[in-house]
Amino acid sequence: MQGRIFLAAAMALASAVFVAPAAAHQASSVDARIDQALAGARPGQFVQVKPFGPTRRASDGLLEIRLAGGQVVKTHGLDPEPPVTAADAAAGGAHPERGLNCADLPRLQVLYVHPSDRPNRFSKSMYERIRTYMRRMSHRLNADALSSSQGRIGADYRVRCKSSGEIDIRALETRTTAARDDWSIIQADLKRAGHDSRQGKYLVWYDDPVERGCGLGNIEGDDTKSASNRHNVRPFYAVVWGNIGTRICWNWRVGMHENGHNMGAVQYAAPRSSGDKWHCNDGLDLMCYADGGDKSNYSVRRCDNAVFDCGKDTYFDTLTEPGEWLRGHWNIGWSGNRFLDFSRPDAPRPSAEAGSGR
Ligand SMILES: [Zn+2]
Repeated sequence: MQGRIFLAAAMALASAVFVAPAAAHQASSVDARIDQALAGARPGQFVQVKPFGPTRRASDGLLEIRLAGGQVVKTHGLDPEPPVTAADAAAGGAHPERGLNCADLPRLQVLYVHPSDRPNRFSKSMYERIRTYMRRMSHRLNADALSSSQGRIGADYRVRCKSSGEIDIRALETRTTAARDDWSIIQADLKRAGHDSRQGKYLVWYDDPVERGCGLGNIEGDDTKSASNRHNVRPFYAVVWGNIGTRICWNWRVGMHENGHNMGAVQYAAPRSSGDKWHCNDGLDLMCYADGGDKSNYSVRRCDNAVFDCGKDTYFDTLTEPGEWLRGHWNIGWSGNRFLDFSRPDAPRPSAEAGSGR
């Protein structure tokens, strides 16, 4: 009897777009809410979970979201706000920047998206703000490429540019509302608008916050070192929610984290992986936090700075060593990753964004 009551309660919660009060930056509270919403579902059944839309749990621990239109995509779920580091505090908001590489497909398309019942606020200053986040990501990526290769190999995002040579950031109105912020609708709307290339990655700066989450990105379990790795041959999407005074979230670190998922970080079998929540265990590494995964052994000791792969042994290394796991498996820093340009730092960058001032 108790079981039936529990089941009925769980199903009522699941169908009611469940929102529970909890602390903002505890991954476990976010996951607990999702697990509770899914608890009453039959095997294979999709349940409405805010802000994903129809959702179910896959066998590899990932969530599957059914887009408006029927396609099913995978994500680990909502990412919380990253902590403010000592370096951030000392810098007082300043951060190094680097220009982006203008490129044809394959490339990253950056977008500003707003809900249908909110105004389009994509102004010149909004464009410049998003461009600044992208340039901060660019600096971090290249700095970590160089540090992983003793200064020999840099890396740059390949982005779409305007004819002026500056990054092209597209604005889009989605059919979902600010009350729902439904990702299954947003991602479907991106596809309908033509942002659906197999040679595309899409990073959305979304002009509305969601409860207790800051970002979401598609990822799949595929660690094969191959040009046809799924992260290399399919459109993958990421979003950074936020942008109101009390719930900002918009910053380069969330953007880099979600795009990192889109490029395949962090795979389950990788050294120092947190397991079935698809992050890692190394301190302030941009892809790591205490996410409660089945291999989670999070420690702040290994890295006390926000870098893209602390130790260069888990998902990003531009110069691997013999015997290293990343040498034989999918590695975002491998030259076969089509979404980055890899460069010799002493060579010119003919495709660099105008006015990048590298
Ligand atoms: Zn994540």
